[in-house]
Amino acid sequence: MSLNLTNLESSLDEIKDEMYSLMENLFPICRSITGNGVRQTLEILQNLIPLSQYEIPTGTKVFDWIVPKEWNINDAFIMDSSGKKVVDFKDSNLHILNYSIPQDTEISFNELKKHLFSIPEQPDVIPYVTSYYNENWGFCLEHNRLVKMKNEMYRVVVDSKLENGFLTYGEFLIKGEFKDEILISTYVCHPSMCNDNLSGIVVATALAKYLKNFNLKYSIRFLFIPETIGAITWISQNEEKMKNIKHGLVLTCIGDRGKFVYKKTRMGNAEIDNTVIKILKKSNADFDIVDFYPWGSDERQFSSPAFNLPVGSLMRSVPNREITKEYHTSADNLNFMSKKSLLDSFEKYFLIIEELEKKIEEPETISNNFQKKLINDQEDYYINTNPKCEPQLGKYQLYENFGGQYDIEKKYMKNAIFWVLNLSDGFHSLEEIAKRSNLELKLVQTATELLETKKLVMRKNDANM
Ligand code: ZN
Repeated sequence: MSLNLTNLESSLDEIKDEMYSLMENLFPICRSITGNGVRQTLEILQNLIPLSQYEIPTGTKVFDWIVPKEWNINDAFIMDSSGKKVVDFKDSNLHILNYSIPQDTEISFNELKKHLFSIPEQPDVIPYVTSYYNENWGFCLEHNRLVKMKNEMYRVVVDSKLENGFLTYGEFLIKGEFKDEILISTYVCHPSMCNDNLSGIVVATALAKYLKNFNLKYSIRFLFIPETIGAITWISQNEEKMKNIKHGLVLTCIGDRGKFVYKKTRMGNAEIDNTVIKILKKSNADFDIVDFYPWGSDERQFSSPAFNLPVGSLMRSVPNREITKEYHTSADNLNFMSKKSLLDSFEKYFLIIEELEKKIEEPETISNNFQKKLINDQEDYYINTNPKCEPQLGKYQLYENFGGQYDIEKKYMKNAIFWVLNLSDGFHSLEEIAKRSNLELKLVQTATELLETKKLVMRKNDANM
């Protein structure tokens, strides 16, 4: 059967219900970047698609990172002096600071407060907070609940384990006629939240389940990986496969009622960019196109200077709480989801793949214009010394050095650092980085100096290129 969405027409209602009930099944599981929540999630997916599961041991070096210890949790609560549990992990797994180390202690409210996270502007929701690389413990709660807590002694129990184990991920390849691949990558590390990230998981699973019944020219690789560290781990373990990836999309935040937002690839004019835009235009519904930026989800690892793969991201509401108030909170629940949107998203991805399949025999007309530019010797060019994925910035204590004039501009400095790392490929001058990122040249220069002191970038002339 050749690939055509009309062949699925009679199954679309069923696909919609399957995606939603899969989401309901996965919702209660406490996931993280490692641990049994990821395994349990992949096992549920294995009932639907022949997913292979991989386990990478703690301590494995993956480029500039190291696979962390594995985290698992049974229970956690805060109990007041009357013996009442005022915050209970069993009510919502968002209540625990993800990756909290074990605790069993009596503590004053003043001490406890240092370990409590809430959002005063959104007093009814539980925020989702993690601490993967700084050992800590904490609880996340509604601000309304926090302000009702009395100034007394509390008992705090975190029944968790942080020990040597594995990072787990899932992978499924539909073999097409050709070696050339389309990559569909989604992440499996968020606990009970729907749009970010169960929507990506259920749409990817449905795509894998239904696409495998068609005769395809492209091979299609599905990744179900923990975000950031999982992407870096997969890339470091599978570098030889990267050359086959011709087009890629990161599937995230795709189940809400918002319009489609397409984040373009780093190169900005790849075949996948043109294809996604063509499919969105055909649908008559409103949509937004945004240029690539070097943060967000795993597209930034696939788009790091050493790989520069054409990987974009088709989403709906943008994962950023300034824009989407449900993002990374307990409000990102089943009520935030729309079955109709999930199906619409499934159809769009399907049509994009269908369109790529139609064009596979045509000669590639679009090239990456970055690498062909003439270099202007008058400007400053830098080379990223860790061009494969992003460096683990946390270990360089970059932010401690901010101080002074940029103290209030930490966010812009962080953005500048990401831009300099992503575009320091020897072909983008600092002037061009400033222009493309819409940041002041002075800020880009300061970020570059900071990265230079940590040997994360070096001047192109010194790099012997
Ligand atoms: Zn997220």
